[in-house]
Amino acid sequence: MGATSIKAPAIVILSKGALSTAQRIQRLYPDALIYGLADRVEGADRSYTEFGATLRSLYQQDTPIIALCAAGIVIRTLAPLLLEKGAEPPVLAVAEDGSAVVPLLGGLAGVNVMARAIAAGLKTNAAITTSGELRFGTCLLNPPPGYTLGDLELGKRFVSDLLSGETVRIEGEAPWLAKAQLPEDERAQLAIHVGNAEREPSAHELLIYPRNVLVSVDAHIENLVNVVRAALHDSRIALQSLACLLASETVMAASALHVAAQELGVPVRFTSGVSASDRAQRVLPQLLPPITPRDGIAIAVAPQPLDIERIGTGRGRLAVIGLGPGAAEFMIPAVKAELARANDVLGYETYVRMAGPFRADQVLHCTDNREEMQRARHAFELAAQGRSVVVVSSGDPGVFAMAAAVLEALHESDDPRWHAVDLEILPGVSASLATAAQAGAPLGHDFCVMSLSDNLKPWDIIEKRLDLACQADLALAFYNPISRSRPWQLGRALEIVRQHRVPATPVTLGRDIGRPGQTLRVITLGELTPEQVDMRTMVLVGSSLTTRFPRAEGRHWVYTPRWYGIKPAG
Ligand code: SAH
Repeated sequence: MGATSIKAPAIVILSKGALSTAQRIQRLYPDALIYGLADRVEGADRSYTEFGATLRSLYQQDTPIIALCAAGIVIRTLAPLLLEKGAEPPVLAVAEDGSAVVPLLGGLAGVNVMARAIAAGLKTNAAITTSGELRFGTCLLNPPPGYTLGDLELGKRFVSDLLSGETVRIEGEAPWLAKAQLPEDERAQLAIHVGNAEREPSAHELLIYPRNVLVSVDAHIENLVNVVRAALHDSRIALQSLACLLASETVMAASALHVAAQELGVPVRFTSGVSASDRAQRVLPQLLPPITPRDGIAIAVAPQPLDIERIGTGRGRLAVIGLGPGAAEFMIPAVKAELARANDVLGYETYVRMAGPFRADQVLHCTDNREEMQRARHAFELAAQGRSVVVVSSGDPGVFAMAAAVLEALHESDDPRWHAVDLEILPGVSASLATAAQAGAPLGHDFCVMSLSDNLKPWDIIEKRLDLACQADLALAFYNPISRSRPWQLGRALEIVRQHRVPATPVTLGRDIGRPGQTLRVITLGELTPEQVDMRTMVLVGSSLTTRFPRAEGRHWVYTPRWYGIKPAG
């Protein structure tokens, strides 16, 4: 037995034939998503177009991978990443028909545990090749959550000594080893030592530390990392047993605190209370009074590993993310990671659906597109409770979307809990850029981005800006070009554009770009009529230098040259 990875695995399949095996595995990991190759697999949770890129990106995000294909394909695909330091999630190859389960990578992340579980579910055997695991039925170097291994290199030597026939003692409490088949002997030279005392590493001991120590701190302490280290050392407590820092709710946003916690590799939790010692007692009242080695520091030691989630509250997080135009491969990895960690997801229903699928534990709050400020305030309310909240926009969140509304809501609020939220805006590929890329480079020189919607601004200002942008000979990108409630505005806008541009000016119309059924048309300003455009269309109008030429596959490339006025030599 060992720790299985906390993240839900990705089950990756290449053909329809593997779907039923994938679904059987999914029953063992209900949060896992099935990734199917687009055009070949229907009924998967997510579809991908490039096997290699998909597998590598999952690996780099530390997602456990169950690939239903030949082990060789998986090895070759991941080979370029293996020498990099970084994530090593469990990676398994499973035969499409479910007849074989081969753990490949992630021995310390619990791959063998997964292999055994999947093999049991598929009623076959796991091809376990790790000798320690085979002999003892557990990976000693991979203790369960709540415990941490002292030193990996020493640990490997320790296991190989055990494998060569040595016996072993267990000191301290290691409930997970009760079922292991260890060659135990009370007088053995080798010992597995479980405890939080500071101890010199030795080849005869496998040191495993329970994460059962909390250090309550005053956030203003200078040089916090060193102070915490020294305080633990003075109390003869191992740094490895530190489970979390605890601080006052009033300093939730203090960046020194978060930097220190990150350096120590532990989370920070918050509670009320005047002194460090008060706060420690408040979250762990059943323990003895904490040790107070110096002013502003209190150390509490629990008999068992601490359940961090139950200690005070965490700092809430609010991420305003851009999904890009639609297709998953145009979504930045930071956005995917944010979606994976979210407790709550807010947004217009269409976009929330586009961001999914979600796990059963994630709460979706779908609202009408027009309730932006209300949605922003709701997001802060949730984040202020310590939750991890995501607000979704299509394209980029800062382009006619939620980021500005969220910031406005924060600006208007004097609630300190809202201001303490860890707020981040994560960009996405905006519709104008996604459309431009498909057509070539129509925005290759200076351009102007405008929303033609007069819902939130007077029509006069739209006309004025349009006129000036045309006078300045900027290429134009129109968002929200037309809708049922705004039927005449685009026609009027085009009248203004036609006062400045010749009818041959190239116009690019991108509809549902990056989504199923996308269309891209390159026409001229002379041909353009409002009937060709709807609210799911992006309109790109060229400048006086924008031009087009036929491409080999048919249709046209459009571009606006890099230069203006003076064409560079060569
Ligand atoms: N934040 C979004 C824009 C929201 S405004 C972004 O950065 O892309 C909504 C307008 O964007 C729509 O009326 C349409 O003009 C355009 N749009 C959004 N997604 C699009 C897509 N996939 N294809 C074409 N146009 C799109």
